[in-house]
Amino acid sequence: MKVKTLRGPEVDLPSEVLDGLKLQLSGSAIFASDAEYEESRTVWNGMINHKPAFLVRCIGVSDVITCVQFARKHDLLLCIKGGGHNIAGLATADGAMMLDMSLMRGVWVDPQEKVAHAQAGCLLGDVDSETQVHNLAAVLGFVSRTGIAGLTLGGGFGYLTRRWGWASDNVVGMDVVTAEGKLVHASEKENADLFWGLRGGGGNFGIVTRFDYRLYPMGSEIVGGPVAWPASEAPRVLKLYRELTENAPPELTLAILMRPAPPAPWLSKEHHGKPVVIMIACYSGDPELGVEIVAPIKSLGNPIGDVMTRRPYTQLQSLLDATQPKGRRYYWKSEYLPAVEDGLCQKVMKHASNIPSPHSAVILFHIAGALNGLKDEHSPVGNRDARYVLNLAGSWENEDEDQVNIDWARCAWGDMKSFSTGGTYINFLVEDEGPERIEAALGKGLKRLSEIKAKWDPDNVFRINRNIKAAK
Ligand SMILES: Cc1cc2nc3c(=O)[nH]c(=O)nc-3n(C[C@H](O)[C@H](O)[C@H](O)COP(=O)(O)OP(=O)(O)OC[C@H]3O[C@@H](n4cnc5c(N)ncnc54)[C@H](O)[C@@H]3O)c2cc1C
Repeated sequence: MKVKTLRGPEVDLPSEVLDGLKLQLSGSAIFASDAEYEESRTVWNGMINHKPAFLVRCIGVSDVITCVQFARKHDLLLCIKGGGHNIAGLATADGAMMLDMSLMRGVWVDPQEKVAHAQAGCLLGDVDSETQVHNLAAVLGFVSRTGIAGLTLGGGFGYLTRRWGWASDNVVGMDVVTAEGKLVHASEKENADLFWGLRGGGGNFGIVTRFDYRLYPMGSEIVGGPVAWPASEAPRVLKLYRELTENAPPELTLAILMRPAPPAPWLSKEHHGKPVVIMIACYSGDPELGVEIVAPIKSLGNPIGDVMTRRPYTQLQSLLDATQPKGRRYYWKSEYLPAVEDGLCQKVMKHASNIPSPHSAVILFHIAGALNGLKDEHSPVGNRDARYVLNLAGSWENEDEDQVNIDWARCAWGDMKSFSTGGTYINFLVEDEGPERIEAALGKGLKRLSEIKAKWDPDNVFRINRNIKAAK
């Protein structure tokens, strides 16, 4: 079997060498001829179509160590798949050996210490379900099928970020398999440099096998969900969004989506496909109070759909899943914003009005709060001046529609980027974004990251990521 090497040329691995690997594994090695290959090799973004030479579905830490040692021995190009949701397809690479972590989805909650120990193949929903058993929650993202690993290693924001910061601000420890194939622990006390680098610098320094998340009390019920209006109401809705977010208590997170209405059951058929503006709320404090706080949203004009209500926290966490299926084609452009200015609102409406696909959206997320209270140096995520995230989220079905949809996102972004803080979110970067965008995402931390890379992965074994150059 031919596999790409770190030096570039392919190496031919004889079958007895691969048999030797299989004997050492608790999990399984999967080849292109196996039925499971297709599911493992494909990722969320249907634009990405890489074919690794073979994959290993790891069962536990010892499999990860075995794989790293095997890859090092034969100088193989390695890629690591968590939830496979990275839009740039950084979980996969042609001709590589892939470590598929998707069978490592155990979560153990310590309710006394308020910590969740989550294996690195978990999806967000795995952690949410287990922590909610104890009326606790971790800071994670908005779509339950996303992998915790890529999300946390790049920062991670969601409905609880306003209260407690990036997901990575709330990691208290990680187990990591290093480029030498050794297991180490990283925390403030142990291997603190590695710990710092992994909380925003991606998988550049090792393979995380377990994340330990700080948890917070969270009753099983929140007030949340969407309210929708026809796009003609957008000026009033955006004005309200701006007023509410400027003064919102940290328990309240609001997002805006402008898009063609999805065929969702809470929107009547006559509106499907028509341009709408949607506000999504999560009030994570006392639900009685939450109902009062979201009342001005629900009473604005004449909504065409309203399911902003008391509901289980885990339900809200998976509410958007169906809008983001695996295999569709996706292209995003994103910026951090310091504010939602009038001029920006005009552009949001303008570019939402010419979306070329029924699935695409212009999205604003409010993230201001706890993350602004820490210094940039706290972690490589930096960007502590970010108060909103703008995402031009292109999403469509067919290859022959690529250009028009990519052009839409690029054009809207070009027209709106003057409103940016100058920073962008590393986890929203697409394949064609290069070093200047990584600089915009990690700028202030890059020097320190390159020193950490030189110490922990001088040979750049972990390179299928937003790759950090090792300092000389
Ligand atoms: C539908 C959707 C919704 C999203 N919503 C949010 C959101 O609400 N908030 C937010 O912050 N982000 C969000 N994101 C972005 C998300 O954070 C990134 O896509 C992230 O990369 C997903 O992680 P993953 O494990 O699924 O990624 P993968 O594609 O599996 O991996 C991404 C990168 O991480 C590396 N990696 C994976 N596992 C490990 C590991 N165990 N050790 C070391 N490196 C590893 C991979 O090698 C790769 O470089 C969303 C993305 C999608 C597609």
